[in-house]
Amino acid sequence: MTPNISAAKAALSHLDMEENPATVRNKSRDFFWYSPVLKAELDHLEADFVINPKTEEEIIEILKVCYAHDVPVTMRGGGTGNYGQAIPLAGGCVIHTTQMNKVKEIGAGYVVVEPGAIIKEMDAEIKEKSGQELRMFPSTYAQASIGGFVAGGSGGVGSANWGALRDLGNINRLRVVTMEEEPRILEFTGEELHRVSHAYGTNGIITEIELPLAPAYEWVEMFVRFDTFRAATEFSGALTSEPGILIKLASVYAAPIAHSFFQRVKPYVTENDHLVGVMVAPHNMDGFMTLLGRHDDGDVIYRSDDLQWARSPGPMYEFGWNHTTLRALKFNKGLTYLQVRYGGDVDKVVEAYETFKGKLHMHLEVMREGNGLSFAGLPIVEPMNKDELDQLVADHEAMECMIFNPHRYTLEEGGRQSTDKRQIDFKREADPKGLLNPGKMIAWDEPDFDYADMYSYKGMRPKP
Ligand code: FAD
Repeated sequence: MTPNISAAKAALSHLDMEENPATVRNKSRDFFWYSPVLKAELDHLEADFVINPKTEEEIIEILKVCYAHDVPVTMRGGGTGNYGQAIPLAGGCVIHTTQMNKVKEIGAGYVVVEPGAIIKEMDAEIKEKSGQELRMFPSTYAQASIGGFVAGGSGGVGSANWGALRDLGNINRLRVVTMEEEPRILEFTGEELHRVSHAYGTNGIITEIELPLAPAYEWVEMFVRFDTFRAATEFSGALTSEPGILIKLASVYAAPIAHSFFQRVKPYVTENDHLVGVMVAPHNMDGFMTLLGRHDDGDVIYRSDDLQWARSPGPMYEFGWNHTTLRALKFNKGLTYLQVRYGGDVDKVVEAYETFKGKLHMHLEVMREGNGLSFAGLPIVEPMNKDELDQLVADHEAMECMIFNPHRYTLEEGGRQSTDKRQIDFKREADPKGLLNPGKMIAWDEPDFDYADMYSYKGMRPKP
């Protein structure tokens, strides 16, 4: 199957197409470079052309033409994914959703929106019009699109209360267009949502999203200082487990993260201080301070509504989730990170902290999950090569810590090392030629892959 790029471009030339090489290169890249492994593998890749559709009809037209000419299609929202999700491994067409950014409907407890809406902008509109807000967003709030979050993200600010994006009730409905000779428009709810959520756009294009909302608050943002990592972790776990205290974020930064990498925090901490960053609903501050009183080793050193600093640290969410890594990378480009699930046991987290001291700096995001509390780790990893990183992953797995390997570009390796049957089954139906974001779903190309080493997609454009 050889793509006929020039025929596809000619047929789509009346749309908003970008061919400028610098723009095409820019829009073919995401934050894959967080990983030295992905940087080495994917840096040379780019699309042949980019189209910015304005409507679902235009998306359907692009898909029809690309199907007819065997041209691969990769979706792009904000381009902030870390797993190389939005990188077109086989070239072809990138569809950038930037112009499909309308908030279509706001109701009591829900919003309907186009996929290209930038999350911070749509949230501001929702707040202004209804006094509600999104329950959950990635720390790339200011840059990421809502479609990219649903198709490529996993959770974030809000997960401390609402769990992961895939948890029931966190997405209401998705409208999806298929990649067939005659693309179909499908509406998914319930179990069907899992076909395309977190599928990297490998089996359908999301053109409309309905999400739940909650009442909006002026969240009180705080840094709380602790002498030990255990005390910081225990407090953040206790806070997240306290059912009556509404929080949106509970992050733990082991020493010396705050002192080394948080420039505006540095004057207020020593290199031995462990910090917890939180967002608490204003009406629950009394409960929060009471809980903190029971953990008498914690001091509030910053409070957005009261104890302020000469230079504001900026929004608390831009310290948490993968922004912690971003801040560290500004100081040392050789650093990288891991994504780990430790479960809800503080002893296990502390054991991992002690075991890997010197190799990584522990950063946790505390989440509520279906059956309780879960510590999600995004530890900052000292510079190391691929073999050392692979060993670090193996050492975590030996301790029964689950790794979502951010040094891999496939859905399976970045997930649970297995294929989601719902996703591959839907791909067979909705993308029979395998043209959507090719190379990202191992099961499509190599169903017998054994995960012994990193998957290498055979259709990837070779390095020049
Ligand atoms: P993109 O990178 O543009 O796309 C992501 C994936 O979705 C790609 O595979 C793309 O092809 C696909 N896609 C995009 N639009 C569509 C569509 N309409 N239909 C089908 N497929 C589509 N992630 C989190 O989950 N939580 C975090 O807190 C978080 N923090 C981050 C912090 C930093 C500093 C960075 C660099 C990344 C972080 N991420 C986080 C990863 C990423 O920012 C988020 O997942 C973000 O929501 C992706 O949105 P985007 O618009 O940038 O998506």
